[in-house]
Amino acid sequence: MMANVLIYLETSHGSAGAALKKPAAEVATAGRALADAKGGTLTALVTGALAADGVLGRHGVDEVLHVDGEAYGRHLLDAQAAALEAAIADTQPDVVLLSATVLGKELGAYVAGRTGRALISDAVALTVEGGAVVATKPKFAGKAVAHIAASGPCIVSLRPNAVPPAESPREAKTRTLAVTPPAARVRLREVVPAAEKRLELTEADRIISGGRGLGGPEHWSEILDLATALGAAHGASRAVVDAGWRPHAEQVGQTGKTVSPKLYVACGISGAIQHLAGMSSSKVIVAVNKDPEAPIFRVADYGIIGDVHEVLPLLTEAARTFLSA
Ligand SMILES: Cc1cc2nc3c(=O)[nH]c(=O)nc-3n(C[C@H](O)[C@H](O)[C@H](O)COP(=O)(O)OP(=O)(O)OC[C@H]3O[C@@H](n4cnc5c(N)ncnc54)[C@H](O)[C@@H]3O)c2cc1C
Repeated sequence: MMANVLIYLETSHGSAGAALKKPAAEVATAGRALADAKGGTLTALVTGALAADGVLGRHGVDEVLHVDGEAYGRHLLDAQAAALEAAIADTQPDVVLLSATVLGKELGAYVAGRTGRALISDAVALTVEGGAVVATKPKFAGKAVAHIAASGPCIVSLRPNAVPPAESPREAKTRTLAVTPPAARVRLREVVPAAEKRLELTEADRIISGGRGLGGPEHWSEILDLATALGAAHGASRAVVDAGWRPHAEQVGQTGKTVSPKLYVACGISGAIQHLAGMSSSKVIVAVNKDPEAPIFRVADYGIIGDVHEVLPLLTEAARTFLSA
């Protein structure tokens, strides 16, 4: 029986060159645990111009397969799928694991269709039972949990921030895999950077989020001031996004992003189950709300009962004073 695990790792392309994205360590950790449980090896596929990265060996990768070439430098689906299919043919894995990012979900579904593998998307935990991979997947915004077992070779996408990275050092040797890029059916014409340079929510250690309790977009500077003082990213509830105060890219929750920072400060957010679905695994949760009965206080480690317009400026001032001392 096939026992090997193949992971697909996403890279980002900043001014400092290519780098592995934060979920890479999470996918490697989950992949290592699966490979150990199945008695197989863990291979990581990396595409594009990525310099050797110590993170792979640190998190338990046995071998790195590198597909290089201009066609693979940007995340166009056809090229990434060609690389992943070639890596599957090369390693014959039982499980292919990738991160449930926008690209990961698309790539997983596309390659599952082309290779006839089963697909399990957006898993938050993985185990092996009787040789079969069993994925845990929250349903209905976390009100229920499904356990889905794959009866054969499968592709699984893992929700970012669901599996804490763990170390399992080994020497990850790199092997180059030559793949002829497919004829380009689409081409990347231009990448326009966002007007506002901000920390990526899913990768931030600290997040300040605002809800309808802020009262209107004209008060958002209170969130931004605290975020700047703490070097934090800023997020929003869906009520705020639906009202057009903030872009959808900032939404945290079931239909937004899943985050797991060290510090999450929820300001004027009631704590609806759909919001909790995206942030309840944060290490320390602080809630500011004028309603002592607000559900957010049930998950908060620290609660401040008060008006956000009074509390936020005080927190900002305290953060500035403390961090400059
Ligand atoms: C299918 C589905 C998917 C959803 N997905 C998401 C999702 O991804 N993310 C998400 O966030 N929601 C999601 N929702 C919506 C969710 O159910 C809630 O409606 C939403 O989270 C409420 O946002 P809120 O807490 O900002 O607003 P409200 O529920 O209106 O809460 C505002 C809070 O602010 C407090 N407040 C008011 N004024 C002040 C003040 N001056 N100072 C301090 N506190 C104050 C109030 O006491 C209240 O607790 C989804 C809903 C559905 C049905």
